[in-house]
Amino acid sequence: MADQPTTFAFPNQDALCERCGYSIKGLASDAACPECGQPVAESSPTKRTLVLAGPWLTLKLYARMLGLFLLRPKQSFRSLAIRSDGVIPEQFLFRNSFLAGLIISAIVFIGSAFIIPPRFHTIPIQSALILFIACSIGISLLTYIEMLGVTAFSRRRGWRVPFPLAQRICCLASVGWLPGAAFVGLGIWMIQAFGVGRPWFDHLLGLVRVGWLLYAGLFVLSFLWFETLVWIAVRQVRFANAWPDLPQSTPKT
Ligand SMILES: [Zn+2]
Repeated sequence: MADQPTTFAFPNQDALCERCGYSIKGLASDAACPECGQPVAESSPTKRTLVLAGPWLTLKLYARMLGLFLLRPKQSFRSLAIRSDGVIPEQFLFRNSFLAGLIISAIVFIGSAFIIPPRFHTIPIQSALILFIACSIGISLLTYIEMLGVTAFSRRRGWRVPFPLAQRICCLASVGWLPGAAFVGLGIWMIQAFGVGRPWFDHLLGLVRVGWLLYAGLFVLSFLWFETLVWIAVRQVRFANAWPDLPQSTPKT
């Protein structure tokens, strides 16, 4: 945890109202935003006290971050300091990707090994391992694609979310892949157990099979939790003001 600067002139040159994005530079610190009426002091970076910087993501910090961003995402992103957290967010993403891959493959593998409906073929450990590796890498890749999307979308909307900030919030929101993974694992298992081989599963709807639609639907639904967390995060940081030790450019509108 880093120290908060004790003296800091706010609003400074780049200051925006956190609620509406209006430039509040030159206003008195006890004034209100001329656009939306929110007190200027509410937009001060000193209100953002959550700093996750550290050389290494310890298990204790990891557990704390899981709770913060899974259970109280709005408050956590609202208090997230706009400054660098070093490599902690990336470590958080890679650990979540690993865990999400583990959750999917464990549910599918254990489901196939121990809860065997009459026509269900046991999934070999090699397949579970491949599923684990594919999911872990896939989730990291999808999270990086999301960062590019958030950066481009924010630029179009005039929000102040450049790539480094998009990267941080997507890494922190990657905790949403964990419930998504549990959902996908259960879905794959249920499709395998109750769908594959049944006549309705291979039924053609136009050019596609019902089974393919089920897998595609599962794939889309698995995104929802992560996407929701990213959306919550962007809303909480899109006009946020950086700590004074960081240069910050105003968005082009
Ligand atoms: Zn305002």
